[in-house]
Amino acid sequence: MSAPLLPPVDGGLRLVVFDWDGTLMDSPLRIVHCLQRAAAVVGLEVRDAAALRNIIGLGVDAAVRELYPEADARLVHRFATAYRLCYLEGDDAPPTPLYPGVAPLLDWLEARGVLLAVATSKSRRGLDQALETTGLGARFVATATGDEHPSKPHPAMLEHVMERAGVERTRTRMVGDSVYDLQMARHAGVPAVAVTHGVHSSDRLRAEAPLGLPADLEALLEIFRQAECATE
Ligand SMILES: [Mg+2]
Repeated sequence: MSAPLLPPVDGGLRLVVFDWDGTLMDSPLRIVHCLQRAAAVVGLEVRDAAALRNIIGLGVDAAVRELYPEADARLVHRFATAYRLCYLEGDDAPPTPLYPGVAPLLDWLEARGVLLAVATSKSRRGLDQALETTGLGARFVATATGDEHPSKPHPAMLEHVMERAGVERTRTRMVGDSVYDLQMARHAGVPAVAVTHGVHSSDRLRAEAPLGLPADLEALLEIFRQAECATE
């Protein structure tokens, strides 16, 4: 079965903005583990993995408010602190490899002069650590993090990286694994593609009407290739 074609980009594709967790990095298991650990540390009910995967993609503070509406600001702060400690330093938390196909995808885009950026709900410290351990930091012309901007689905992060890259929305594409990425893109007026190897199901993502719904990054590269062939 052939992948669906992406519609042609007027003027040519110039910027691709990636979500990080669940899109480029296989980190949802570690995130679930640390959300459960943080709940136990601050004395809140520990939710099951399905409930937690539902809210992954929001910033930590927004996720806690969604899961525990009764939590006050102090408790949200304590939870977020415990979560970040577990995520950044927890030796017993699951590892976070990159998904297969990251390097060929980024190489292919860069070879065509496409700029790359990240818009993530991670903290700045968390993203910087991830960029350093993966060696991908130099690839991205702009990055935006959840502690420096309003939580997705607010469009601020995406607008920030487009401005930094100097690229208009019509020549930008967003790639994410959660409905919050797709909603952020819609609010920013940016067409988006959803990968289905992350936290949200194909059905849930499809309801947000992404341009494409590839299963993984290798399939995403294939639809970029097909789109290029179609415009030649
Ligand atoms: Mg994600």
